[in-house]
Amino acid sequence: MTSVTVDGTEAKFSQAQKDILILRPLVRDDRHELVIRYSGKPQPVPAPTTREDFSTLGFTVTDRDEVWTMQEPYGAYSWYPVNDQPADKALYDITVTAPDPWTGIANGRLVANTTQDGTRTTEFQLDEPAASYLITLAIGDYAHSSGTSKSGVVLDYWYPRGQPLVLDAMTAGNAAIDWIEARLGPYPFSSAGIVATDSMSAMETQTMVTIGDNDYVRSAPVLVHELVHQWYGDRVSPADWRDVWLNEGMTMLMQGLWESDNASEDGGGRPIKSRIADWRRRDLGPARRLRPARRLRQGPVRRLEHLLLPALMWNALRLELGDDRFFEIARSRLAAHDNRSVTRDDMYAHWEKETGLELSAFFDAWIMGRTTPPPGV
Ligand SMILES: [Zn+2]
Repeated sequence: MTSVTVDGTEAKFSQAQKDILILRPLVRDDRHELVIRYSGKPQPVPAPTTREDFSTLGFTVTDRDEVWTMQEPYGAYSWYPVNDQPADKALYDITVTAPDPWTGIANGRLVANTTQDGTRTTEFQLDEPAASYLITLAIGDYAHSSGTSKSGVVLDYWYPRGQPLVLDAMTAGNAAIDWIEARLGPYPFSSAGIVATDSMSAMETQTMVTIGDNDYVRSAPVLVHELVHQWYGDRVSPADWRDVWLNEGMTMLMQGLWESDNASEDGGGRPIKSRIADWRRRDLGPARRLRPARRLRQGPVRRLEHLLLPALMWNALRLELGDDRFFEIARSRLAAHDNRSVTRDDMYAHWEKETGLELSAFFDAWIMGRTTPPPGV
């Protein structure tokens, strides 16, 4: 770091590993302007995971000097100063200068794209606040294309130049947006896009989904999953990581329903009933003790605890209420918590108010209970 100013005047600071201490007395709840100037060569940080598809988080430079970032549950702090937790959303303007014809891609609307003296500068503006784990930066030799959903949402597709098959895979996003909008309401942001990188996983980075370089993460169900997160996870985020299941449970159920609606004879997708039965079968043995909220989550998402069990819970409620009522409340809950980071209690209160049902025993049994409730409960 080179300098810090608070409200226009230089402030003393010290830095200890990931923490910056700024020495300036402040009045609680007053507003202040903090400017931090810094430069450096960011390094990825170890990920708290045993997953095979990644071992580090943050800013990654490839063998070919391309850049990509993925940073859930944290890692943004490895490349810019930020309160790196999901309750502190912020607006972002990101300007990237790269050697032409390479292009820097980030979240939001592309508001400028200029070349000068062998460099290309792109400026992105994010119109809605985002949590730091949802920020993306990618730099590489990108080609650009776009598609449009029937409802008129334009999706920007950034894919490696000369790789049209990657673009083909991305265009599943057009119809996916229409399918999701029919259930969760209009796409919530002012821009949409997908950027392909050299990572091995996919991430729901806000307004600009980041996908990696393999057939699985480029598949339509994974794209649908990351696009559903634009509503569940990005528009409304968890206040802390114990509640990451708020993002993943509903998203996994939506993915399963999309696969059911788009099941084809060549083996793609399958009916939701068989998917639900499969998820229940996986919930056996010691895993029964792993309720979504019984562990303080600091690591990446665990498939059974954070995706499948809460997906089973939402499916039970969907069957109880019927699709129309269920998705009507899912939409009103997103509107009620628009662009905020919320707790499970906020979410429980909304569903109880809208259904008129006493649901605390239901939610508690699924989220905190020691065994999985039987089907249909
Ligand atoms: Zn997810």
